[in-house]
Amino acid sequence: MNIILMGLPGAGKGTQASEIIKKYPIPHISTGDMFRAAIKNGTELGKKAKSFMDNGELVPDEVTIGIVRERLLESDAVKGFLLDGFPRTVEQAKALNEIMAEQGRKIEAVINIEVQEEELMNRLTGRRICETCGTTYHLVFNPPKVEGICDIDGGKLYQREDDNPETVRNRLDVNIKQTQPLLDFYSKEGVLNNIDGSKDIKDVTIDVEQILTNL
Ligand code: AMP
Repeated sequence: MNIILMGLPGAGKGTQASEIIKKYPIPHISTGDMFRAAIKNGTELGKKAKSFMDNGELVPDEVTIGIVRERLLESDAVKGFLLDGFPRTVEQAKALNEIMAEQGRKIEAVINIEVQEEELMNRLTGRRICETCGTTYHLVFNPPKVEGICDIDGGKLYQREDDNPETVRNRLDVNIKQTQPLLDFYSKEGVLNNIDGSKDIKDVTIDVEQILTNL
């Protein structure tokens, strides 16, 4: 099961990804998470990625493709994976097809979660994340029981550095420009599935599951 989850930042990819991996034994591979972990750990990769991420720009393809290639070769990804945040460019998509071909497999489904831009601005600037378990909250749509504290483990909630309004606007603009050619690419490949991400989280999950069970 080789799946790609697509959607603009804030469309709910992370939320749907955690539902999918509860049901299917495949790793959730998020390039954004990999870069954030690298920055936190002060690795060479983190140093390369930080300035691009802070400005809401894409990390260069050669860096990003390299880490995905390595990650897809790890044993837990051999039977399948759920990619989130990759590919972001047609070049990355072509490189991914090559990596798949080298390994004798292919992308089976691209699930694109669609949400309007203004709705995404509201969602992203109010997003807060638990620093210990990574659970996502929203100041308005999904607040924690106690302000600033995670319901699950009592961890402190933080705002991602790139979730401030100016960076969010830039991230959305960059993403919108980049996404259309990618959607065209996967549409031509016959693997694109668009779903309505403005619905309730549970209803979006039902739509995602329907696609996966039909594979
Ligand atoms: P995300 O968590 O997916 O929103 O990613 C956060 C940031 O990480 C992006 O704004 C980019 O700077 C970087 N990033 C994540 N995935 C990619 C990718 N596939 N290609 C280039 N940059 C990426």
